[in-house]
Amino acid sequence: MPLARGREFLSIPGPTNVPEVVLRSMHRPAVDIYADDLLETTQQCLQDLKAVFRTEGSTYIYIANGHGAWEAALTNTLSRGDRVLVLESGRFAKGWGEQGDMLGLAVEILHGDWRRAVDPAAVEARLKADATHAIKAILVVQIDTASGVVNDIPAIRSAMDAASHPALLMVDGIASIGCMPFEMDRWGVDVAVTCSQKGLMMTPGLSFVGAGTRAKVAHATAGLRTAYWDWTARDLPENYRKFCGTAPEHMLFGLRTALELLFEEGLENAWARHVALADAVQAAVAVWAEQGALAFNILEPAERSAAVTTILTPGFDPERLRDFTRENLGVVLGSGIGELTGMAFRIAHMGYANAPMVLGTLGATEVALRALGLPHGKGGLEAATAALARHFAPAA
Ligand SMILES: *Cc1c(COP(=O)(O)O)cnc(C)c1O
Repeated sequence: MPLARGREFLSIPGPTNVPEVVLRSMHRPAVDIYADDLLETTQQCLQDLKAVFRTEGSTYIYIANGHGAWEAALTNTLSRGDRVLVLESGRFAKGWGEQGDMLGLAVEILHGDWRRAVDPAAVEARLKADATHAIKAILVVQIDTASGVVNDIPAIRSAMDAASHPALLMVDGIASIGCMPFEMDRWGVDVAVTCSQKGLMMTPGLSFVGAGTRAKVAHATAGLRTAYWDWTARDLPENYRKFCGTAPEHMLFGLRTALELLFEEGLENAWARHVALADAVQAAVAVWAEQGALAFNILEPAERSAAVTTILTPGFDPERLRDFTRENLGVVLGSGIGELTGMAFRIAHMGYANAPMVLGTLGATEVALRALGLPHGKGGLEAATAALARHFAPAA
C-alpha cells in the first residue's frame, strides 16, 4: 500500500518548491505591455536583482533558463576565437564551455576532480603561464549541482589577481545565489548568472545576468553579440526593449513576490537557513555512510554545498531508492547526472525549504533504505534532528 498521497516533496535541485503566494501572484489576467504596474514591476525586479547579486552594475532578465543566461554572458562580452578557461568541478562549468565551443570560442578546460572543489593554486599557475593574456574569460560555477561541490570564488579571484591576469571572471551562481553568500562587486566578479527556479523560489523560465564595469567595456567590442541577448538594446529605456519583445508578465509578477519573500527573510538569514538544513542532511548521510554502501561524493566536508548534497551509492542501484521514495512515500529525490548517472542520488535543500521538508525527505529516504534492505548505518534521522537542535542551542 503506497503512502504517497498528500503533498509531494520535491527534493530535487531545481526546479524547487514554489511558494503558494508566488503562484497566486501570477494568477491574473494579462495586462497591457505599457501598464504602469508592469513597468514598475520590471524596474523593481531589475533593482532587486542588484541586491541579490550585490552589485552596482547592470542587471538583465531573460525569458530563458540558465542555459540562456550562459549564452547571454558569452555573446555579450567575447568574440569568435577568444580563449576561455573553464574550471572543471562537475558537470555544469563544462556544459557552459561546450556552449562556448559552438559559439566559436577556443575553450580550454582546467581539469578538476568530480570529488573536489576547484584548486585556486592550479588557476594561478595556469594564468601565470598565459603571458600574452590570450585567456579572455574564466568560467566557473559557485555550486556545481551535479557533484554537490561549492567552489571558493574569492579564492579564485585572488588567484587571478596574484597572476595579475586581466581575464573576465564569469560565475554561474544558478544553484547558489539566494542559498549562500555571493558578493559580485566585493569579490570582483565581472559577470554573474543565475535563474529563477532554484534559490530564488520562482517557476522555471527566467534567468538573470549581472554585468560589472569591466564586462560592459568588453561588451563594447564583443563580436559575438546577437539581437536577442544584447545588453545595449536592453539598456534602452523602453520596457519592450528590456525583453527584446513582449515581457514575461506573469513571471515578473511572480518574481517580484519571490524576491519580496527573500528580502522579508533577509538574504543573510536565508543563507544561514541553508547552512542549518544542509548540516541536518549531511549529518544523516554521514551516519548512513558508515556501512560503506553510500558515500558523500565530495570528500572534503568544507567543500560540500549548502544547497544540494550528492550521495554516491557504490552498494546499490540508486534508482531503486528513488523509485521507492517517489512511488511509495511521495518524495522525489534527485538523480545522479553527468558522470554520476546511475551511481548517485541527490538531496536538494535549496530555496523554499524548511525543517519539516528536510526531515520528511530524510525520513522517507531512511524508510526506503530499511524497506529495501539496503546496507546503511542506523540513526541518520536521529543525527539530523540533533544537528537541527544544535542550530538552536549550540552549547547543548
Ligand atoms: C540548473 C543549473 C544550470 C542549468 O540551468 P537550466 O535552467 O536547467 O538551464 C546551470 N548551472 C547550474 C549550477 C545549475 O544548477
